Amino acid sequence: MEIKRPITDLSGIGTKKAQLFEKIGIKDLMDLVTYYPATYEKRIGFSNIQDIKPGGTYLIQGELIATPFSKRAGRVIVTSTRLRDDTGEVSLTWFNQPYLQKQLKEGETLTVMGKSSYKYEKLQLTSPKILTKSDLAYYEDKSIIPIYPLTKGLSQKAIRLAVASAMEAIHYQIDDYLPSTIKETYELESLKDAFVQVHYPKDEVLLNDARKRLVFDEFLFFQLGLMMLKDEQVKIKNQYTFESCKKYKHTLENLPFTLTGAQSNVLDEIIKDMKGSYNMNRLIQGDVGSGKTVVAALAIILAVENGYQSVLMAPTEVLAKQHHQSLEKMFLNLDLRVGLLVGSMTKKEKIDTYEKIKAGLIDVVIGTHAVIQEGVIFNDLALVITDEQHRFGVSQREILAGKGHFPHVLVMSGTPIPRTLGLILYGDMDVSIIDELPPGRKSIETYAVNASYRNRVQTFIVKEIEEKRQCYIVCPMVEENEENDLSDVLSYTEKLKAELPPHIRIEYLHGQMRPKIKNETMERFARGELDILVSTTVIEVGINVPNATLMVIEDAHRFGLAQLHQLRGRVGRGGNQSYCILISDSKSTLAKKRMAIMTESQDGFYIAQKDLEIRGHGDLLGLRQSGMPTFKIANIVEDIEILKQANIVAKTISEKRDILQEATYENFRKKLENYMETNMTYIAL
Ligand code: ADP
Ligand code: MG
Repeated sequence: MEIKRPITDLSGIGTKKAQLFEKIGIKDLMDLVTYYPATYEKRIGFSNIQDIKPGGTYLIQGELIATPFSKRAGRVIVTSTRLRDDTGEVSLTWFNQPYLQKQLKEGETLTVMGKSSYKYEKLQLTSPKILTKSDLAYYEDKSIIPIYPLTKGLSQKAIRLAVASAMEAIHYQIDDYLPSTIKETYELESLKDAFVQVHYPKDEVLLNDARKRLVFDEFLFFQLGLMMLKDEQVKIKNQYTFESCKKYKHTLENLPFTLTGAQSNVLDEIIKDMKGSYNMNRLIQGDVGSGKTVVAALAIILAVENGYQSVLMAPTEVLAKQHHQSLEKMFLNLDLRVGLLVGSMTKKEKIDTYEKIKAGLIDVVIGTHAVIQEGVIFNDLALVITDEQHRFGVSQREILAGKGHFPHVLVMSGTPIPRTLGLILYGDMDVSIIDELPPGRKSIETYAVNASYRNRVQTFIVKEIEEKRQCYIVCPMVEENEENDLSDVLSYTEKLKAELPPHIRIEYLHGQMRPKIKNETMERFARGELDILVSTTVIEVGINVPNATLMVIEDAHRFGLAQLHQLRGRVGRGGNQSYCILISDSKSTLAKKRMAIMTESQDGFYIAQKDLEIRGHGDLLGLRQSGMPTFKIANIVEDIEILKQANIVAKTISEKRDILQEATYENFRKKLENYMETNMTYIAL
């Protein structure tokens, strides 16, 4: 098809420029047509003075009735005059610009643009901008100007030009794949018009119509794609039987605690899946500390007592070891053989473990990426679990599942996603939510302070340590950055050592350290041999040190809400009251708002929802990590209504699959197939 033509076909785009375009994901002409403006600038046309209403911005031209005069009002000098056109008069007022008195003369023709308001029952424009001839050329045009997202080396003009050429070259041959019944039902614009209006909107109404159509398409294909995928996966027949449940029951009945209602429900869902006709493909979403591990462990026991192997993959070595330890404890007396597989093991140890796994002498393998190495061959793998799934790439999870012969798949995530959204976005998996924390958890007292509190914070740190508790301090960066004075881990640690009493044991941790040292440091902290751990966000996931009761986060505004929430989740894991102190000097209202959300809530789902509302789509760190796609034009917060409509259509089509064979759906089917090929392979969990 012509629309696949490379952009170098356009005049003015050579290989060099094409490389720049490629950086923003543009290779062919269709990519240009779907490179949507990030925002628009509205140019306003001239108004008559009689049409001015308070509270708007107006461009007017008229004759000065009087030479401006200035007077002092307290500390400011107010300069005012009046402007007249054929339809009326309006006051103009400026502050602290007395020189205008000399610049402007009675009778002069003046073009101004400014905000209108009522003052002393008269309309006035406050601090209007006086426009020159060249300004005018710009403001006269009434249209809405697209502003495209830029990349270094490509100007706004270059992108506008390229988009325009692409539109000219291919826009006439764009097929509207959406059947007209759908377009009519949901009042959707034709695709051609939508493309034209999104790049060159005539007015806001048409722009909105265009956006609606394009957003709808984006949501529709995404959701339909997920639904198709889910169907394909669900169709895998369950080839395992889980009849014996003695050990499972025994463990369940002898847990040191009672499962929460949410844990029980999720466990039921998992067991039902495992015993069902088709394979399990389930995501457990649970807030930090909601107790996902025990649920996974019970599923493992069930698999193993029925003669199968299980594997649990965690993103970091520390976490893997921690799981290994706690599961070993749980599996005690169950005659269950647990193996650990992590990067720091010697080659010999690894090979030894490989052999045991292959021979079926190990029932449960717990490890890091080491479990997906080529040498790892299972004897009879029936259950594959990934912890903190957002830390893994899709391919890694796929390799893991590929280690068995269509094993059951369970992934766990501590990154909460707003509920409704999660259900839609994870359409290819079944989702279980643990939305309840174990009873008796004390809430973590959270404070947002500025740097002037640092001394007091230090006093508090010392106090906690004297109570034999431990403390995390998180800084955003590793090395000193001259451009900003962000606290960095190394110099921060030095400073802290100098400032705090010498008996306090302080160590640092960051991502660029050798894994062996990193693990050792983390383990020393876990064993209580260190009082303070100064760290980057490497401690973010999973770590469980119940004696740590204080989390101090420096430059807290640098982190996303989801991340702050994860970090805070490192404390409050034991019986003691825990605290989180967010230090930030940022003056931005957004930053302040985010700090406030952290202090007012501990509910990961609530925080995720707020994060989404504040930051809008795409940028959410937590969400992006969860494998959520970034949409080209759709905004999952603002466009939620369109998302719901698209969801209905996607459901209908996916349920009545035969409809795709009808003639009216021919183009649609092709587009969907194409979409599945190019997009769904990496979206799938
Ligand atoms: P996460 O969901 O963040 O992975 P974990 O599985 O690490 O949480 O559990 C956090 C802590 O809560 C662990 O120490 C675990 O033993 C404990 N826990 C889990 N479930 C319960 C429960 N129902 N009652 C009391 N404590 C529980
Ligand atoms: Mg966990």
